Amino acid sequence: MNIILLGPPGAGKGTQAERLEKTHHMIQLSTGDMLRAAVAAGSEIGLKAKAVMEAGELVSDDIMIGIIADRIMQPDCAAGFILDGFPRTTDQAAALDDIMADKQLKLDAVVEMTVDDEALTERITGRFACAKCGAGYHDRFKQPKTPDTCDACGSSEFTRRDDDNAETVKARLAAYHGSTAQIIPYYREKGILRSVDGMAAIDDVTREIEQVLETLQ
Ligand code: ADP
Ligand code: ADP
Ligand code: ZN
Repeated sequence: MNIILLGPPGAGKGTQAERLEKTHHMIQLSTGDMLRAAVAAGSEIGLKAKAVMEAGELVSDDIMIGIIADRIMQPDCAAGFILDGFPRTTDQAAALDDIMADKQLKLDAVVEMTVDDEALTERITGRFACAKCGAGYHDRFKQPKTPDTCDACGSSEFTRRDDDNAETVKARLAAYHGSTAQIIPYYREKGILRSVDGMAAIDDVTREIEQVLETLQ
C-alpha cells in the first residue's frame, strides 16, 4: 500500500506517519527530513535548499522530483510507503504519477488532513523532537511520558527546527495555500482523495486514518 499524507505544515503528517510505520510496516518518506539531512551534510542539494527552507519557501521542483525518484527506487520502499511533504505542487504531483507508472506502482490513497491556520501556528511553535531517534513531541499536546526523556529511545536530548518560528510559519502557510492546496482537486478528480479531521486529538486522527486504510485492503 502506498499513500500520501497531505496537509499544511503542522497538520500532524509526521506524527501519524511515525505510527503507521510501526503498525503497517510502511516506510515514511519525509522530504523535509531528507532536505534537513542534506543541509546538515553540506551536500550540493543542502547548500541550495538551506536559505529557501529558512525563508519558508518551496525548494525547486527539479530538486524535489530528483530526490523522490531516487528514494522510491530503493528496495525498502517495496513494502509500501507513506509520502509526507511530497508532492507540494501540481508539477510534483504529475511527476510522481510518471515515476510510479514507470515502476508499476499504485498510489492507493491521498489522505488530506485538515487543520485551521491558528491551530497550525500553535502546533509548529511548540514542536520539538528527540535529537537521537527523531520522535516528535509538543510543549502542550504531546509531552514525553517521563519529563525530558524520549518515550521511544530514552534520550534526554531534544531539538527544535530553525524554521519553526512564527515568522517563517506565515511564509510556509502562504506556500501551502498558494501552491500545495492546488493538488487537492487533482487527486479528488482521480477519486483517491480521502479527508480526515486533523483538528481532532492525535489518537482520534490515527483512528480515522486507520478506517480509511481498511477500505483499501
Ligand atoms: P507535520 O509533519 O504535518 O508538519 P507534525 O506531525 O510534526 O506535523 O505535528 C506538528 C506538532 O503538532 C507536533 O509537535 C505534534 O506533536 C503536534 N500534533 C500532531 N498532531 C496533533 C493533534 N492531532 N493535536 C495536537 N497536536 C498535534
Ligand atoms: P512541514 O511539514 O512542517 O511543512 P517539512 O519538514 O515537510 O515541514 O518541510 C520543511 C521545508 O522543506 C519546507 O518549508 C520547504 O522549504 C522544504 N520542502 C520539503 N518538502 C518539499 C517539497 N516537496 N517541495 C518543496 N519544498 C519542500
Ligand atoms: Zn528518541
